[in-house]
Amino acid sequence: SLSDRLGSVFDKLRGRGALNEADVREAMREVRIALLEADVALPVVRRFIDSVTEQAVGQSVLKSVTPGQQVVKIVNDALVEMLGGDDVPGLDLAAAPPVVIMMVGLQGSGKTTTTAKLAKLLKEKHGKKAMMASLDVNRPAAQEQLKVLGEQVDVATLPIIAGQQPVDIATRALQAAKLQAIDVLLLDTAGRLHVDQQLMDEMQAVAAISTPKEVLLVVDSLTGQDAVNVAQSFTAQVPLTGVVLTRMDGDARGGAALSMRAVTGKPIKFAGTGEKLDALEVFQPSRVAGRILGMGDVVSIVERAAAAIEEEEAERMAARMAKGQFDMNDLRQQLRQMQKMGGLGALAGMMPGMKKAKQAMEQSGMDDRVLLRMDAIIGSMTPKERIRPDLLNAKRKIRIAKGSGVQVQDVNKLLKMHQEMERAMKQIKKMGGLAGLGKLFG
Ligand code: GDP
Ligand code: MG
Repeated sequence: SLSDRLGSVFDKLRGRGALNEADVREAMREVRIALLEADVALPVVRRFIDSVTEQAVGQSVLKSVTPGQQVVKIVNDALVEMLGGDDVPGLDLAAAPPVVIMMVGLQGSGKTTTTAKLAKLLKEKHGKKAMMASLDVNRPAAQEQLKVLGEQVDVATLPIIAGQQPVDIATRALQAAKLQAIDVLLLDTAGRLHVDQQLMDEMQAVAAISTPKEVLLVVDSLTGQDAVNVAQSFTAQVPLTGVVLTRMDGDARGGAALSMRAVTGKPIKFAGTGEKLDALEVFQPSRVAGRILGMGDVVSIVERAAAAIEEEEAERMAARMAKGQFDMNDLRQQLRQMQKMGGLGALAGMMPGMKKAKQAMEQSGMDDRVLLRMDAIIGSMTPKERIRPDLLNAKRKIRIAKGSGVQVQDVNKLLKMHQEMERAMKQIKKMGGLAGLGKLFG
């Protein structure tokens, strides 16, 4: 299998410490094949491999994992990032109603089905009053198809008038939506078997009169290598805002996702996962990355190893604190850790004893930018002051405030926070010290 093959190449990577270029290049040959087998378009594969190679060479290998495992993790993270990261933006509906969502794509890609799925979602999850209109005058019964789906999800569809052209239907839909105080109007357009200019002209004309807030390109995830052509034509001619990948329930390996995102530069917002009208999910890059690479186990091994290192670091700090040692260097390290772990919001979850410190910070009006400022303040202290904050008299505080471009009161706030944390650390000691802390991080 693919995993085995990747595994055997990676097993050969014996170098410890940092990943060297020859090893990485060899591993990338297998990654390249994996991507092509997942139907990622060739130019996208090339770009991906180049960027990952550059990232990976010279990276140090985590303790307790093999260089091969480390490479898989790097590839996985790069895939997730290339797919837009796990923070997928939702629909943008910030406009005066009726907000128009226009669906575009090739024939059979799943536009009509997805239109109904989205209408259902908007109605049920967002409490929106939705209306759908089919602009597909090419296929007989296309408009009836949407009407039937509308009845199924209990969302209004624009009454059908025979003989109207797409732009006329869109105009009528907008009028009806205004009259009926509709929040969101979904325009389901016609597709073609292949991209052609007449279709593009039609899409442009409809977009011009309906000024859609979202233009979603619906793509069959089984499209494979042709995905790039489709994405390129639509991107060049229609103001896309996002992509929906359908048939993700099938055996697509996810390659189209990577190609789509790379070529359109637009977020993949949803994944269709079945024919049923509730089979629509927010797109999940990490799941797709796992599918492309087929090495989810390795990824989690490396993630655990990375977590273990943070745990070791936390334990080292806890050991210092257990001895009553918590100076400005420790605080600085904590601040950096907090930034890494998602800022102040994550703080309370880190250690129970931190809740107090967090409250103190909130009371003094601190937010995440303050983390950086506090880091700068500590940076302006002398090494001696960092170890012995009690040395900080008024004169020294003024010097530090000047050096870090803040007010003396900010220096005082930091000192207060240091005291709060020192107190919190002592609580941890009471809770059972290292063992207690280990449990919290476990
Ligand atoms: P359109 O021509 O782009 O409007 O495509 P349709 O919405 O008519 O869909 C074509 C076919 O694909 C229909 O049989 C749908 O049921 C099916 N379909 C659409 N989305 C999905 C999906 O996410 N998964 C599966 N398995 N089938 C889908
Ligand atoms: Mg259709």
